[in-house]
Amino acid sequence: MNAGLKIGTARGIWVNEYLQTSDPSIYAVGDAIEFENPITHQSMITYLAGPANKQGRICANNVVLGNVQTYKGSINTAIVKVFDMTVATAGTASKHLTTADQT
Ligand SMILES: Cc1cc2nc3c(=O)[nH]c(=O)nc-3n(C[C@H](O)[C@H](O)[C@H](O)COP(=O)(O)OP(=O)(O)OC[C@H]3O[C@@H](n4cnc5c(N)ncnc54)[C@H](O)[C@@H]3O)c2cc1C
Repeated sequence: MNAGLKIGTARGIWVNEYLQTSDPSIYAVGDAIEFENPITHQSMITYLAGPANKQGRICANNVVLGNVQTYKGSINTAIVKVFDMTVATAGTASKHLTTADQT
């Protein structure tokens, strides 16, 4: 089935800052969408639960109250614990920054 929604350059569902798709009566959040990365300014898909949760809350406010809140994007912070070692990452990997520089 094809909803006819605009697909962006990163192959995710395109949304505006209110998380509205190209059909203004349809909102989208989470792993399915792409959004501008605040560091590289390139559109990307973020596969993380935190941003998906935040988008869900913003989306709910916008659906109920009428586009009152904007989403600003995610810098993709992740953390993992392996036995006694905790590893975290925030921002954009150098290989992606190099690619972004060249475009
Ligand atoms: C193994 C694994 C580990 C992860 N660990 C982390 C982590 O540590 N930290 C982190 O931030 N993120 C983690 N993630 C990513 C995180 O789970 C996702 O980014 C987040 O769940 C995305 O939320 P979502 O609501 O977009 O999609 P989902 O949580 O995938 O929800 C989509 C829902 O839609 C339903 N669905 C699909 N198709 C249809 C259909 N046609 N009709 C009706 N319903 C449908 C699915 O059954 C599902 O319930 C992990 C993901 C995986 C797979």
